[in-house]
Amino acid sequence: MAQFAVIGLGRFGSTVSLELTRLGHQVLGVDSEPKFINRLADKLSYAVIADATDEQALAELDLLRYDAVVVAIGEDLEASILCVLHLKNLGVQQLWVKACSNPHHTILSRLGVSRIIHPEEEMGLKVAQALNYPMINQYLSLGNNQYLVEILVHKHLEGTVLSALLKNSRHEVKTVLVKRHSELVAPVPDDFILATDDCLVLAGPLSMLKSLAPRLV
Ligand code: ATP
Repeated sequence: MAQFAVIGLGRFGSTVSLELTRLGHQVLGVDSEPKFINRLADKLSYAVIADATDEQALAELDLLRYDAVVVAIGEDLEASILCVLHLKNLGVQQLWVKACSNPHHTILSRLGVSRIIHPEEEMGLKVAQALNYPMINQYLSLGNNQYLVEILVHKHLEGTVLSALLKNSRHEVKTVLVKRHSELVAPVPDDFILATDDCLVLAGPLSMLKSLAPRLV
């Protein structure tokens, strides 16, 4: 179990803190508005009313003992930046900060924040990708244009041999595993025969994964 602090309990901050709690972590929620604290007080490990632009108030929260601090103050640029400056002064290392605009992002990165989150853009990208590739359940960028994708095998692929599905891309696209019902198959042999509702996890260059898409629908 890890310990996290979330500053700003709007829709984004409250979702992060509730999900971390559900995952079994200890969460401190901080907000300057009593109504947001009252709403979550009995759901989080600790909930504190404090102004995050006040360095003394932040110092009293003993934030150095947390594994990471999330700053989820979006709209109020000044409050977000002041809060980040104070957290940096206090020596907080693991800092995740929500940004609401490009200038906000630029300032945060100049302040040395390495984890800058753009929830709307990131979610928008995910929705567009899901609409573009409806056969892809989940994907994860691994960097260097390599992706990990989870694909649900549709009925028309029942009985297809894996190597026939991957064809020319099989040297560059790796089959990480297949999930069939509750069983995981790994490593996956080339002659593996696919069944409807198998969940295929593939990794490889985006261009190769894209070229597979027409065979999957
Ligand atoms: P969301 O979309 O997640 O609801 P938002 O961008 O609409 O976020 P904001 O106005 O950015 O909402 O604020 C998010 C939360 O941060 C609010 O609950 C607000 O009370 C809190 N907040 C704003 N300023 C401070 C501050 N100085 N100290 C602590 N909490 C703050």
